[in-house]
Amino acid sequence: MFFLIAGFILFAGFLFNEFFLLKRFRRKEANREHSLAEDVRILEKRGEDINNEVKKWENILSERFSFYDITRKITPYLDKEELARAFIGEMKYLNGVESVEFYGSSRRKGWLTFKLKSFEQDYICIKTTSHEVIECLPYFIKLFILCLERIDLYRKLQELSIHDSLTGIYNRRYFMQRFAEEFQRAKQFNLNLAFLMIDIDNFKKINDTYGHLVGDVVLREVAVVIKESTREIDFLARFGGEEFSAVLLETGKDEAVGAGKRINERVIQKKIHAFDEILSVSVSIGVACFPQNALYPDVLLEVADKAMYQAKLSGRNRVCFF
Ligand code: GH3
Ligand code: MG
Ligand code: MG
Repeated sequence: MFFLIAGFILFAGFLFNEFFLLKRFRRKEANREHSLAEDVRILEKRGEDINNEVKKWENILSERFSFYDITRKITPYLDKEELARAFIGEMKYLNGVESVEFYGSSRRKGWLTFKLKSFEQDYICIKTTSHEVIECLPYFIKLFILCLERIDLYRKLQELSIHDSLTGIYNRRYFMQRFAEEFQRAKQFNLNLAFLMIDIDNFKKINDTYGHLVGDVVLREVAVVIKESTREIDFLARFGGEEFSAVLLETGKDEAVGAGKRINERVIQKKIHAFDEILSVSVSIGVACFPQNALYPDVLLEVADKAMYQAKLSGRNRVCFF
């Protein structure tokens, strides 16, 4: 009996112990499960944060790329109207921009408006509800305003410059100014003055055959030959694309025609080295003289031009005069 009771007690103790251990094990497992779930939640939250961060940087990058892209596309323009058209075109590509318009004296209700200086329209108005675009707009507008200012500066610079950038000789604007002054002086002091209009023959063919870069070298070299064939007191300019003009001071008709022929011959003799090519070109020259051909500067220029045209008609590579 004793053994039976003792056995029962032992068995009950064993069962109780097992039950207790199981409970502890379960609690432990539940705790672990809880801490794992917490870890998963933390990781999920972190994943979400990382995704948000990535999205934020993607947005920043896409803004930067849009900004870079628009900058690249609109900065080459040197005309305000063309720039404005290009700017509107680019802005409309931005996500969330409904409409872009330039506007006159008053602001537009319901549109974002920005004041413009140095443009004939006072405001640029943009219709958008996109927060990203609204945030970036001041930068885009600033860029547009800078481009407008750049065009103004370029114009002023051009007005101040007196040389042609390709050939280095005078540009047409400065040449015409000097021509008017020298013509006035010739009139006042009864001096002779000659005007030469010089045009390269079949120049388009050179461009078409060898390319524009070779054409540019030819233009530079012909300018050098003309410069070297005239005196220090004479002045010349690139009058147009492949057209040059020269004013020979205190020069009568015979001397002027002689100078024209000298230029003509030296141009033909010149071997022009342009990249891998060795070329030679000819010129047609029209000569007009004050006071024989005209008493006004614009008429003198016209007569020289007609004489040059005559040289073209009669076979090119020659000097003509009336
Ligand atoms: P013509 O004998 O009748 O004068 O014929 P042309 O081919 O010389 O004259 P045309 O007016 O048909 O062509 C002139 C060419 O000059 C066309 C134009 O592309 C080229 N040109 C104008 N300015 C430049 C320039 O700065 N560089 C180069 N490479 N070519 C130019
Ligand atoms: Mg020509
Ligand atoms: Mg021409």
